[in-house]
Amino acid sequence: LTETNAKPIWHPMAHPAEMRANPPKVIMKGEGVMVTDIAGNTVLDAVGGLWNVNLGYSCDPIKKAIADQLGALPYYSGFRGTSTGPSIELAYELCEWFEPEGMVRTFFTSGGSDSVETALRLARQYWKIRGQADRTKFIALKKGYHGTHFGGASVNGNANFRRNYEPLLPGVFHIPAPWTFRNPFDETDPVRLAKLCARALEDEIAFQGGDTIAAFIMEPVLGAGGVIVPHESFMPQVREICDRHEILLIADEVVTGFGRTGAWSGSRLSGVKPDFMTIAKAITSGYFPLGATLIGAKVADVFEADKTSFGAIGHGYTYSGHPVGCAAGLAALAETKRLRLNENAAARGVELAAVLEGLKAKHAIVGDVRYKGLMAALELVSDRATKKPADKKTMALVSEAAYEAGVMLRVSGNAIILSPPLIVSAADVARIGEALDAGLSKV
Ligand code: PMP
Repeated sequence: LTETNAKPIWHPMAHPAEMRANPPKVIMKGEGVMVTDIAGNTVLDAVGGLWNVNLGYSCDPIKKAIADQLGALPYYSGFRGTSTGPSIELAYELCEWFEPEGMVRTFFTSGGSDSVETALRLARQYWKIRGQADRTKFIALKKGYHGTHFGGASVNGNANFRRNYEPLLPGVFHIPAPWTFRNPFDETDPVRLAKLCARALEDEIAFQGGDTIAAFIMEPVLGAGGVIVPHESFMPQVREICDRHEILLIADEVVTGFGRTGAWSGSRLSGVKPDFMTIAKAITSGYFPLGATLIGAKVADVFEADKTSFGAIGHGYTYSGHPVGCAAGLAALAETKRLRLNENAAARGVELAAVLEGLKAKHAIVGDVRYKGLMAALELVSDRATKKPADKKTMALVSEAAYEAGVMLRVSGNAIILSPPLIVSAADVARIGEALDAGLSKV
């Protein structure tokens, strides 16, 4: 095994030829918040795997739960007719965890893209059961990210993820995200911008006809699009508009679920009760692939009281409710709660915000910094006045220099994205800041 022999893998979100020219870092070991590559470099993982390893790499209770479950029963299907203990227990746990969001039922999936697909499909089915089969359209936010299945890719608000796979789902429409740094209204005030974007939703609904729309989907804090943090007044306005037009609201909480923003969910930041929540990633802290679509009472009631021919769920995965994944989830959630990771995310997030504001004041290349809890981004620009995005080479230089300084960063377009494990200490946050400073000083 060497750094250059990863050729048989086509890596996600990468050009195969580019990967041959710039081979991946091969990560061999992880401990706490640190990972070690094949060359022996040990660095702080400021990416947290991929927004998911909230508990770091040495969480013994999760490892033990996985080993115990492998010993007892490595797999059984959760299809009609059979179920397993850990999946039933975890379903109860999730409904309790997200009771404030009004969630009452769990549909297990294998990851985030599956969870989004499930929510979109169940939203369509809900309207069929209710005799409104014309409600098929979806509205979403530009810059939103909702995974890579055909449905999820269709509602993605970044054309780069869609264009190679067109034609996608018809009847999907996007409105501007409340992104103060760049928006079509040239509005920098977050409260006014939230109102303008909410009005854009109203306008789109009026244009399409409210009774043709199945659901609106949004991330409460947009992650992969570059950590765009809507003002807390935005989601309640969306909920009110959706209610008035009877449109279902899907909160994609694949990143924001389980404490990353400092609250247990992104919806809880503004007290909104969505109709579906999609979760994955930190549900097992990355130790096992698992996701879930959580279902609110209004939708659950319609399915459970159904007497039409549309009520049976014709959707599911071989690994829906995988017992090892669910055992990992139960252990991860118990640890997450015991360590009060939401509180650590909030406290360390305040420190990280101060670090990022300091870097923005020091380095002209930092056009904007955005953060909520322990999800954060620095947007790099070649010119602050024109906001011209920094080029690929610059981004690579910054992240390589930071790696040499001992911190793994993630680059997405002209943004550096930070999502460290939620167990980070104040010293870890300072270290991330120092490595960023070293990287930014290089350019
Ligand atoms: N939704 C959101 C908000 C995400 O950030 C992601 C993954 N980054 C997904 C869905 C898809 O999840 P997965 O990669 O587990 O399929």
